[in-house]
Amino acid sequence: MKIIIALAMLLPAIVFADINVPDTAPPLPPKADYPPGVAEDLQAKGYHVSEIKNDIFWITNGDYHVMAVKTRKGVMIVDAPEPLPFFPPMDVLGAVAEIAPGYPITHMIYSHAHSDHIGGAGLIKDAFPNVKIIAHKKTKRLLEKMNDPKRPVPTRTFEKTTKVSSGGKRLKLHYYGNTHMPGNIFIHAPKEKVLMLVDVVFPGWVPFRRLALSDHIDGWIKAHNTVLDFDFDTLIAGHVTRLGTRADVELQLEYVQDIIDSIGGIMEDPNTLFNAVAAYDSVHGPGAAFETNAKWALFSGFFDASTMACSEVLDAKYTEGANSGDNPKALAGAEAFNFSNCEAYFVARRLGVVQVD
Ligand SMILES: [Zn+2]
Repeated sequence: MKIIIALAMLLPAIVFADINVPDTAPPLPPKADYPPGVAEDLQAKGYHVSEIKNDIFWITNGDYHVMAVKTRKGVMIVDAPEPLPFFPPMDVLGAVAEIAPGYPITHMIYSHAHSDHIGGAGLIKDAFPNVKIIAHKKTKRLLEKMNDPKRPVPTRTFEKTTKVSSGGKRLKLHYYGNTHMPGNIFIHAPKEKVLMLVDVVFPGWVPFRRLALSDHIDGWIKAHNTVLDFDFDTLIAGHVTRLGTRADVELQLEYVQDIIDSIGGIMEDPNTLFNAVAAYDSVHGPGAAFETNAKWALFSGFFDASTMACSEVLDAKYTEGANSGDNPKALAGAEAFNFSNCEAYFVARRLGVVQVD
């Protein structure tokens, strides 16, 4: 509470600083909205919990997602998001008590090490000290270094694939390399056809800033096809307003392919650089772009012009018609992150760290 009050006092100063706010808030495409009942639950208790299929549950605070599996012995969960200012509290313990009153959390799986997704794990371990914590071995190595009491170190790790079974239910965990950060894993309930993969696909929304802040863009892009190789109907994606489907993965793959095609074309077009030179010279005089003091400014102009051209392609395709809800490809948040998503790919391509067919 103290933190929220302190931030609220700072708010006027923050709002009137350098935040770039659009003149009009763009409409939310209908398919990006909360499913029925979710908004009401968030209002009433800060979280929503519902059964996806056969004792597999979705818990959300409207921004972050947790998977919970009810077994004969208790509940297995995947992730425990960190309580953050302004976000509704993710009361995972309260949600689990709704799913299986009186039963313990027996297993806690970490999708990856990022603190926003597992920074509430310490609270789970405090409540259930015997909880088994399972993660990829790279996640364990990182958490050992971080020594963060909010993210207890895993008690069990794996390298490529493993099974986690309890009380008649089974999850399979898979690792296919760095798809967002080292140790980011796929969590699959094969029988129920539910898949969880965090920070790759954002159902109904464009990917979060700079392609989900992924530190390996090539692996992040390839993860889309790996997802589609799984047998699943429901995707728990870790973020935003709802669960996902195969169609959401396919649409985001199309979005990513548009970035690849757009940036690819721009990089092969010398006019982008010529235009940046001309723009600089038009302000500072002929030849000014090649003066020593213009080096960074020229590159900044070149990066921005390239990124803006890509962003305009995305804006036209993924926001058009959103107002009337008749564009099946409309994605929420395009105005916020199209530019930075283009820039992330542009930089990766420029540095030669993405595979080009
Ligand atoms: Zn992450």
